[in-house]
Amino acid sequence: MSTKSIGVLMMCPMMPYLQETLDSKFRLYQLWETEDQQAFIEEHRDSIRAVVGNTFMGANAELIDALPKLEIVSSFSVGLDKVDLVKCKEREIAVTNTPDVLTDDVADLALGLMLSTLRQICAADRYVRQGLWPKGDYKLTTKLSGKNVGIVGLGRIGLAIAKRAEAFGCKIAYNSRSKKSNVNFKYYSSVVDLAASSDVLVVACPLTKESYHIVDRSVIDALGPKAIIVNIGRGPLIDEKELVKALVEARLGGAGLDVFENEPHVPKELFEMDNVVLLPHVGSGTWETRKEMADLVIGNLEAYFSKKPLLTPVE
Ligand code: NAP
Repeated sequence: MSTKSIGVLMMCPMMPYLQETLDSKFRLYQLWETEDQQAFIEEHRDSIRAVVGNTFMGANAELIDALPKLEIVSSFSVGLDKVDLVKCKEREIAVTNTPDVLTDDVADLALGLMLSTLRQICAADRYVRQGLWPKGDYKLTTKLSGKNVGIVGLGRIGLAIAKRAEAFGCKIAYNSRSKKSNVNFKYYSSVVDLAASSDVLVVACPLTKESYHIVDRSVIDALGPKAIIVNIGRGPLIDEKELVKALVEARLGGAGLDVFENEPHVPKELFEMDNVVLLPHVGSGTWETRKEMADLVIGNLEAYFSKKPLLTPVE
């Protein structure tokens, strides 16, 4: 069966391979290419049967309401905070994401952020580039090996981070909604208690109503001036105003951040800090992984429209 007549709405540019393949297999609508997006959606509302979103733009209630023929949302991400899952359930719209294939990359980057924040790799690199080395040695930094690492969200990515940190001789503890029977790491039902026993707190849970600002002032204060936070989950998991305040006042030792509350905007106060590493949400951003994610998006759409089981359904 040809799928060429099926309308697929892509919300924003993702990667050329995904765009080109979708265009070759479906009738692709590229939302960002139009000036009046509302009029565009209105014009094509009866042809669009699928939406492809990502971490920046998904399918909110307004979009879902505007598309009466929508049957599937296929997200080019594992996180689904930009998809109104309740609305999808009500309308019986299928939802898919891209789990597992990005786990290694995000976990690798979390370790990169731990190391680069504690050892100030980025700041030391700037020191060399700015020609400051001949004037004196770079300041001493803090060791990662052997430290207590607390992980908020011991899912696929959290566990992959734990395994990597174990190889650095770190002691692992975690907080999740439930205690895991497959690991021997210490479980804390309270994030504040986990923070109080951690040198590095890694945030790796999904963004939901319950986890919004899961790292608040009380968690930051429990970590204290010698500890650091690494966030590879989602920006709003941390109360960013409180984080910035704590860093400015040196009540927190540092932060390695891949995600922010108001992306792509990053608080300017952080720009000059040597103990802070800032990344533009690149957790899964390698050619290899993005290709696998794209293949899952395409494969899920093909499976759905040929009435085969979805590859990665969100239940
Ligand atoms: P996952 O396998 O579903 O794991 C999520 C974990 O978070 C589970 O252990 C879950 O606990 C826990 N959790 C859920 N709600 C929680 C809460 N309110 N408090 C504490 N823990 C909670 O998901 P994953 O594949 O590891 O991905 C995790 C998140 O990483 C994604 O949702 C996404 O937001 C983020 N991510 C970021 C990037 C990036 O580019 N920076 C890339 C990929 C993913 P239970 O097991 O007890 O339910």
